[in-house]
Amino acid sequence: MSTYEADFMAQVEAKNPAQPKFIQAVREVVHSVIPALEKHPWYRKAKILERIVEPERVIMFRVPWEDDKGEYHVQRGFRIEANSAIGPYKGGLRFHPTVDLGTLKFLAFEQIFKNALTTLPMGGGKGGSDFDPKGKSDAEVRRFCEAFMMEFFRHIGPNTDVLAGDIGVGGREIGYMFGMYKKLKNEFTGVLTGKGINWGGSLIRPEATGYGAVYFAAEMLETRGESLEGKTCLVSGSGNVAQYTVEKLLDLGAKVITLSDSSGFILDEAGIDRKKLDFVMELKNVKRGRIKEYADKFKGVVYTPADPKLDHNPLWDIKADCAFPSATENEINAKDAANLVKNGVYVVSEGANMPTVPEGVDIFLKEKILYGPSKAANAGGVAVSGFEMTQNSLRYAWTREEVDAKLRDVMKAIHRQAHETAAEYGTPGNYVNGANIAGFLKVADTMMDLGLYS
Ligand code: NDP
Repeated sequence: MSTYEADFMAQVEAKNPAQPKFIQAVREVVHSVIPALEKHPWYRKAKILERIVEPERVIMFRVPWEDDKGEYHVQRGFRIEANSAIGPYKGGLRFHPTVDLGTLKFLAFEQIFKNALTTLPMGGGKGGSDFDPKGKSDAEVRRFCEAFMMEFFRHIGPNTDVLAGDIGVGGREIGYMFGMYKKLKNEFTGVLTGKGINWGGSLIRPEATGYGAVYFAAEMLETRGESLEGKTCLVSGSGNVAQYTVEKLLDLGAKVITLSDSSGFILDEAGIDRKKLDFVMELKNVKRGRIKEYADKFKGVVYTPADPKLDHNPLWDIKADCAFPSATENEINAKDAANLVKNGVYVVSEGANMPTVPEGVDIFLKEKILYGPSKAANAGGVAVSGFEMTQNSLRYAWTREEVDAKLRDVMKAIHRQAHETAAEYGTPGNYVNGANIAGFLKVADTMMDLGLYS
């Protein structure tokens, strides 16, 4: 590590205490882009890196809401407006009890480079709340979403900052928030993406992140003359990203044998077929039940409850070819990464954001497996959000086939950029370096063009 890199990271750590996930995300990007800074010394002079790690704006606000018993609660709302060099801030909202400033700063930071890779004009942002939708009634979720938007509406807009879903925020929550935004602003605009089809949503948006992660895996495999057909796959999570990852894997002839939630995971050696996936979608999106019920419903399925005392996750200790982590950050630790490799997994395409700890990433890179880091592999979701914004501006709707073809093209373009840039900077096959450098260069060049205050 150069002195410049060490000094820079020491400063970032000193300025952002108690934000380990943010530091983790910054450390990876900074390490990757050092060769680009050496090649283009003007970035250092213009303090591009110093500017990029400082969000343009952080909004924190109180969200009071009332439960079904008439009791009052107070939650914290956030929006990190990280970078608007190449377009309006764009990124999801997360509702989960673990949400804090550092978590959202990491997600917003990642979003800057991810959005740049999509080839679309979108800056980076992320937001959310420590509200936990789990176990809440529909009416409670609605009241919370409306309360959130009562403050939030004044900070956003279709040309300023555009929201989408993330953990705990799906079609239901987007609907309640869009309804309140429309009421308060008296405007029907594309300020949220992931909307319903009847009210400005794009076809394929719910599917996009999962489909995209699978397309990215297919692109990586193609560099070795292989395809997903017949491959055995591990998928974690059972929410939006996991469900559509399974759907596309089935379309492409792969076999998926696991799914999980925070309570545990199921192993279905026979494979999750279309009918079983329908059951999962109904269970998770309508009944809001637990994945354990899958094992109760189908024969031959093993359910393993989550055990926080274990030093690894047994889901990642199963013989397979490919892994699609699709639950949450840091869900693959170093031991899990070693187990994956030991069990023959040689394709990892990250649907979740930063699901692998740095020591795990090092193992994947050392073993030279096909490792697609999240900011490249899961960019399909935000890409189709970008297409939703385009369709809203046009007041027009593309067909399913059109959007899917555009998504496929974007994932190909992201793969190509990451692959070519990795080789150009002397680390062929290293998609981490390739994605970080390619995303950084687009934003950095724009910040140079726009001057100091951009
Ligand atoms: P959902 O809320 O739909 O699903 C999340 C899934 O992950 C659930 O099965 C949930 O289980 C599980 N999960 C969440 N937190 C934890 C945890 N701490 N430990 C174990 N399991 C957990 O979210 P999404 O599918 O939308 O998001 C999943 C990941 O994909 C996140 O990392 C998100 O940032 C990322 N992502 C999502 C995009 C999108 O378009 N939705 C776009 C790009 C990235 P449980 O229900 O028990 O909590």
